Amino acid sequence: MFQLKKNQSLNSKKFSRRELLNKGAKLSLLTAGTLLLSQMSYLSRAMAEKAKSLIPKDFKLAKPSEPTPKALQYVEVASKAAARTDKKAFCHNCALYGVKGADKVKEFKHPKHGPVNACGMFGGEYVKSNGWCMGWNKKS
Ligand code: SF4
Repeated sequence: MFQLKKNQSLNSKKFSRRELLNKGAKLSLLTAGTLLLSQMSYLSRAMAEKAKSLIPKDFKLAKPSEPTPKALQYVEVASKAAARTDKKAFCHNCALYGVKGADKVKEFKHPKHGPVNACGMFGGEYVKSNGWCMGWNKKS
């Protein structure tokens, strides 16, 4: 970094203007980089907090191994469902995606599970956007 050579001071004639400008420019870049990194860190923390705040208090992700999802051959990745014949069928375009009791709820991006929404077939438990089950019914 910025070091004075032996017998050199800021007032020394040996300390050229170009050298000073180069070192000043490097110092400015380093400072700008540090500030940018700290801003990015702050923003990513703020985004993580916002994502967490979107999670409903009663959030529960349906597990394919549980009785109802299992009976309906629910899978979290539609392309892995052997019984699926319509290659365009996904939870996100199913009429029951976003149905929670009598309410309609919006999809949100879970920080760990990705886009999810409540499924009317699974009593409001959440399913993955790209999932599928035998209860799929095209959204109108
Ligand atoms: S009923 Fe629809 S939204 Fe629910 S798991 Fe089956 S395909 Fe997905």
